[in-house]
Amino acid sequence: PVDLYQNSAAHRSNSPGIDLNNPLEVNVLLEAISESDTVDWRAGPIINGQLRPGSLQPLHSPADGTTIGFASDSTGEDVENALESARQAQPRWDLLGGRARADTLERVATVLAEAFYSLVTLIVREAGRTLADAIAEVREAIDFCRYHAHQARQQFGEPVTLAGPTGEDNRLSLHGRGVFLCISPWNFPLAIFTGQVTAALAAGNAVIAKPACQTPLVAALATQLFHRAGVPGDVLQLLPGDGKALGDLLLPDPRIAGVAFTGSTATAHIIQRTLAERNGAIVPLIAETGGQNVMLVDSTALPEQVVDDIIRSAFLSAGQRCSALRVLFVQDDIADTLLHTLTGAMQELQLGDPSLLCTDIGPVIDRVARDRLQAHIERMTKEAKLLARLSPPSNLSGYFVAPHLFEIEHLSQLNEEVFGPILHVIRYRAEALDEVIDQINACGYGLTLGIHSRIRGFAEQVFQRTQVGNTYINRNMVGAVVGCQPFGGCGLSGTGPKAGGPHYLTAFAIEKVRSENI
Ligand code: GLU
Repeated sequence: PVDLYQNSAAHRSNSPGIDLNNPLEVNVLLEAISESDTVDWRAGPIINGQLRPGSLQPLHSPADGTTIGFASDSTGEDVENALESARQAQPRWDLLGGRARADTLERVATVLAEAFYSLVTLIVREAGRTLADAIAEVREAIDFCRYHAHQARQQFGEPVTLAGPTGEDNRLSLHGRGVFLCISPWNFPLAIFTGQVTAALAAGNAVIAKPACQTPLVAALATQLFHRAGVPGDVLQLLPGDGKALGDLLLPDPRIAGVAFTGSTATAHIIQRTLAERNGAIVPLIAETGGQNVMLVDSTALPEQVVDDIIRSAFLSAGQRCSALRVLFVQDDIADTLLHTLTGAMQELQLGDPSLLCTDIGPVIDRVARDRLQAHIERMTKEAKLLARLSPPSNLSGYFVAPHLFEIEHLSQLNEEVFGPILHVIRYRAEALDEVIDQINACGYGLTLGIHSRIRGFAEQVFQRTQVGNTYINRNMVGAVVGCQPFGGCGLSGTGPKAGGPHYLTAFAIEKVRSENI
């Protein structure tokens, strides 16, 4: 029987990763990091399995500005070569069937696991993610490979026989759409890249991968590992470079049969419009975008646990997760106590070098991100009440933004997602719950929601009445696990289906029905 939800024990184990409480494992990790730190990382377009040297530009670490490697952008000729080869290769990859593709994806999981330390190092260096985040990210990438391999076997293995009158044989099968364009972000440069690419491949598509321009090195290493594991070079092509320039070439091209995108809502709208305006086939966009994520804390919640979950959800990963907490609604009876504990806990956070185990918060991705966040902090300092800010160490030279806590009156004071370690608090009265729920639904986003309460009826009521993709009750609201918390939102937060969920792969596929009179 088809086990779409993977509830059978054999498929439930997620990648083990590294235990940071175990000194032996930590030593091996730190040694490996110092060794791979000396590697001269290179990225560029990878066309038919060959890294094409172009005009190499240096890439700098967001944590300290040092040069970490060199990358070149894709040219118009690279785009044409990648597209044409992928188009020609796709039918052969599709005809292999779900089982053979699953075997290849299982090998990708093994190869990524073998390269665990290099991947962790590069994620830390290029994206400025902390060690804990980078480890979790490599685990997630491996999970995506295995999950999508399983789904490929389940859904793309054999055609399903359907009902019909005597003498009629009806079969339904799923196939790739053609060449899928996968546009991935810098905040999870490996996991989201791998999630998109393995989904498209599992479903029988060839892939053009366009990684974020801030993180081409991770994408290039991942692509090379995919090829080493047996994904044919013409079936997976990498085109790094400027989003607008490449989008202008790729999106209108009729050889693109679908787009998977994770990034800002504004860019998703541009992609959707461009796809709508082109001639020829109508193709799908699977978009996972931002959020204006809220946590609701009522007066029965446990303050210590709440504070821990707030810190994790709002400030760790420098707030650079689309799932991160942006607005905390606290019931007025406990607001003073909770905010006092929270501001105290904030002062304990260590901002600094992401490759050190003691660091809680690394840099934000680049100067543009830092300046945008600083501008928001300046606006809030004028328009809202500053409750707390962490004083960062004075010797930091990278793009660091200290965690800030502001009190505001209404959700509408935030017109867009603020992608960093800045949390806004709103006090609410128990009688005004309806109005709070209206505010949440009115903002148009619907990605994550946190609820802290010991009254189950309260949590259930909020869950039922809010239009949000992922609701977390009495826990933090980040770090969705593949297969356990399928992830993704609605409205301004994306199209669905959820990544790491049972319905994701079908969005990358076409259905064919074969009816035979026998
Ligand atoms: N899936 C991630 C999480 O649950 C967030 C992904 C993103 O930021 O795009 O935290």
